[in-house]
Amino acid sequence: MAIATINPATGETFQIFEPLKDAEINAKLDLANQAFEHYRQTSFSERSQWLQKAADILEQDKAEFAKLMTLEMGKPLKAAIAEVEKCAAVCRYYAEHAPGFLADVSVKTDASHSFVRYQPLGAILAVMPWNFPFWQVFRFAAPALMAGNVGLLKHASNVPQCALAIEEIIRRAGFPGGVFQTLLIGAAKVADLMADDRVKAATLTGSEPAGISLAVAAGKQIKKTVLELGGSDPFIVLESADLEAAVVTATTARMLNNGQSCIAAKRFIVAEAIADKFEKLLLDKFEALKVGDPMQPDTDIGPLATPGILRDLDQQVQTAAQSGGKVLIGGHPLSDRPGNFYPPTIIIDIPPNTPIAKEEFFGPVALLFRVPDIDAAIKLANDSPFGLGASAWTTNDQERDRLIEEIQAGAVFINGMVKSDPRLPFGGIKRSGYGRELSIQGIHEFVNVKTVWVK
Ligand code: NAP
Repeated sequence: MAIATINPATGETFQIFEPLKDAEINAKLDLANQAFEHYRQTSFSERSQWLQKAADILEQDKAEFAKLMTLEMGKPLKAAIAEVEKCAAVCRYYAEHAPGFLADVSVKTDASHSFVRYQPLGAILAVMPWNFPFWQVFRFAAPALMAGNVGLLKHASNVPQCALAIEEIIRRAGFPGGVFQTLLIGAAKVADLMADDRVKAATLTGSEPAGISLAVAAGKQIKKTVLELGGSDPFIVLESADLEAAVVTATTARMLNNGQSCIAAKRFIVAEAIADKFEKLLLDKFEALKVGDPMQPDTDIGPLATPGILRDLDQQVQTAAQSGGKVLIGGHPLSDRPGNFYPPTIIIDIPPNTPIAKEEFFGPVALLFRVPDIDAAIKLANDSPFGLGASAWTTNDQERDRLIEEIQAGAVFINGMVKSDPRLPFGGIKRSGYGRELSIQGIHEFVNVKTVWVK
C-alpha cells in the first residue's frame, strides 16, 4: 500500500511519500535510544508542562488539524474538530494524573521497607489505524511519554500527513528531540522493528491479521504487546427501554465516523415486543441522514476511507443478502458520484448462525436481530468472536444487573453509547485484543513494575 494522501471524497491523489530507507530507520532507532537515556531522567513536572503545551497547540490549531484528518480519511469536519479537542483533553488528563498513577506504592511485608516502583521501558512502537488518526495516537502517546518512554509511530499508510503533524506537535510542545518520531514505513517493516533490540514493546490498534502478525513477531522476542482490534458490538434494546432515546443513540452509535469505529454499535438486538417500532424509528433516522462532502458542516456521513473498504463492505452486504438478510434501506455503493460513498443501510432477518452475521461491518451498516427475551438477547450478544463494548437499554434494575454481569465485553454501557473516556480503561476481550489503554490501567501497560525490598 502506497504511503499517500488520497482524498476519499474525490479519489484525487494529493501527495505520495517515499517510505524511509533502512539506513534512515536505523538512524531513527538510534536517536530514540539516545533520547530515552536522557528523557527517562526528566521530572514529571517537566513532562507535564510539555504535555500541557501539546494540548494548547492542539486547541489553538484544531481547525487545521481537523481539516487534515478529513482530507486524508473522510470523517465529517465537525467530528474531526471534536477529535482534536479530545486529544487535548487526554494530554491534560495524563499531565495532571500521571504523577499519582506512577508514584511508589508502599506495601507492608517482612522487609523494613518494601514498595512498588514504576519505571519506563524505552522505545515503544505504536502501529496505528487511520480511523481516528489523531485520537488513537494521542491516547497512546500521552501516557507513554508521561511514564518516561519514548514513542515510535508507524501510522496507517493513508494518513501520512496526520502522522507528520503529530510528530511536529510534540516537537513544538518542547519535548526533547527523538522522544517521539514518526516512521513513514509500510506494514512489512513492522516485524523487523519488533526483532530490533532498540524497540522494547509495541501497541497495535487495527485489524485481527495485523494484530496477529505483530504479536507473533513480538512473541519471538518476548516483548510486551497491547492489541486493540476489531469489534462487533451489540446494542441491546429490551422492552422496558426508553425507545426514543435508544433509537437516537443507536443512530449515532452506528454512524459515528462514517460507521468506521471499532466500538460502533454493529448488531442491534431488540426485544420482539418493541421490534416493529424500533425498526420503523431507526429507518426514519437513517433516511434523514445527509451523505456528502465531509468538509460541509451539515454532512452526517462522509466517504469511507479507501476504495478497498468500500469494496469489502459492499461484498459483506451482498453476502448478508444471499444468506437470507433483507436490505431495508441502502445496500449498494453510491455510484452517482466519485469517492468512496456508501449510504446508511439496515439489514434485517439475517439468520444469526450464518458466518456473515458474526463479521465486523466497518461502515454505515446496521444488522437488526429480534429476540424473545433477555436470555436470548444475552446469548446472541455473546455469540461473537469479539468482545470489545456493548450498549444495553432497560429501565429494569434486575435486567440491568444481569446485562452488566453476563455480557462478555471489555465495556458495558447501560442506557448510553459506548465511548472512550480518558478516566476509564478501554480495551477488549476475545478476538478484540488484550491490554488496556487510558486511565490508570493504560499507563501501567508499558512500565516495569519493579518490586523493591529493603532490610
Ligand atoms: P489494519 O489494516 O490492521 O491497519 C492498522 C495498522 O496496522 C496500520 O498502520 C497498518 O499499516 C498496520 N498493519 C497492517 N497489516 C499489518 C501487518 N501484517 N503487520 C503489522 N502492521 C500491519 O486496520 P484497518 O483496516 O486500517 O483498521 C480497521 C480495523 O481496526 C477494524 O477492525 C477496527 O475495528 C480496528 N480498530 C480497533 C480499535 C480499538 O481500539 N479496538 C480502534 C480503531 C480501529 P498500513 O496502513 O501500512 O497497512
